[in-house]
Amino acid sequence: SAATNNLEAFWMPFTANRQFKQAPRMFVGAKDMHYTTSDGRQVLDGTAGLWCCNAGHSRPKVVEAVQKQIAELDYAPAFQMGHPKAFELAARLAAMMPSPLNHVFFTNSGSESVDTALKIALAYQRSIGQGTRTRLIGRERGYHGVGFGGISVGGIVSNRKTFGTMLTGVDHMRHTHDPARNAFSRGIPEHGAEYVEDLIRIIQLHDASTIAAVIVEPVAGSTGVLLPPKGYLERLRKICDDNGILLIFDEVITGFGRLGAPFATDFFGVTPDLVTTAKGITSGVIPMGAVFCSSSIYDAFMNGPEHMIELFHGYTYSAHPVACAAALGTLDTYEEEGLLTRASELSQYWEDGLHGLKDCPHVIDIRNLGLIGAIELEPIAGEPTKRAFSAFLKAYDDGILIRTTGDIIALSPPLIISKAQIDELFDKLRKVLHAIA
Ligand code: PMP
Repeated sequence: SAATNNLEAFWMPFTANRQFKQAPRMFVGAKDMHYTTSDGRQVLDGTAGLWCCNAGHSRPKVVEAVQKQIAELDYAPAFQMGHPKAFELAARLAAMMPSPLNHVFFTNSGSESVDTALKIALAYQRSIGQGTRTRLIGRERGYHGVGFGGISVGGIVSNRKTFGTMLTGVDHMRHTHDPARNAFSRGIPEHGAEYVEDLIRIIQLHDASTIAAVIVEPVAGSTGVLLPPKGYLERLRKICDDNGILLIFDEVITGFGRLGAPFATDFFGVTPDLVTTAKGITSGVIPMGAVFCSSSIYDAFMNGPEHMIELFHGYTYSAHPVACAAALGTLDTYEEEGLLTRASELSQYWEDGLHGLKDCPHVIDIRNLGLIGAIELEPIAGEPTKRAFSAFLKAYDDGILIRTTGDIIALSPPLIISKAQIDELFDKLRKVLHAIA
């Protein structure tokens, strides 16, 4: 129609949408593992939307919970008021986290969760008399959303260079990715844990007494599935502890079963001081996020010199009733279907299938963990992203949804995927890789 063809009428900053300008591709329906396209085809979802629809699409418990909630209580402020589902959800989520992380703050997205966690970290340091600790440390190739906090600590220069001054006092550690030594390694890479020592350099450069917190994705997702080498996260925890620095895990992608455990903190056995989540909390159905923190951080934040009575922080839609209902329906679905550990049951099958693409044209690396995978393609000289984007288009035409980031294909299917669908995904991808230039 005229309306759908006139994409120029919208500002759509996602690169893929810009590239789609001439030929818009639309999804008009979704159920379980499939999207329905506007021309009536079924597309197997290899990415859980944008890493979020972990329980699959339009699942009955979630649909029912949302419909019932809208009819019953459409909105209630979390400011000076509350509603029972907010507390029910908070209690259930807190029980899923390792015991120190039993306080929850609701947001509406990953970006808001990141901003919230950074603010709590700074407020905590100030509350315990460490007001000189104002620096925040991120990591090269880290992705933490598109708020000013997230782009400041994020490691993607192109996402921030347009906007002038970011948060001041931010520095970035080296990333952990060592393709030369880890190419085609399966699961957790053996090499590269020593890159964490870059934090020691940063501590020496700025002095530990100026640093409030370090934020990392346990597994970097959006920048191409970069896995923490063996021992890396443990050492990161130790360096932070030794220097009074808070450690924040951004689990917006790794949370809610992606790795085969409820959270990456369970999977790696490393407990940070704060955890940010979003996406899988409602399986993508309604925007929502949550930040988890320990009792000591919570108490300091609530009782410190600029405690919550004076310091306002919250969103109109924090703990939105419909989002809470969607999250509760999603947690029911995860629990009843064993989805939070399903990736661990499937991970060997997933790994074998993925690494079966090793000999396909253009492939220079394959990485995997849980139900995450990445296939890195050799870029076409002088035309970065072109090869992966043509793979994306061909895959869509052949009935599979993949996502690309640079020349890397990233995969993260809903956790309900069957072995037959894993086979279908990789069979089709094999044909795609042979078909593209
Ligand atoms: N952090 C991480 C690790 C993410 O992967 C993302 C989104 N891909 C975000 C934060 C931002 O989340 P949102 O897009 O919901 O703001």
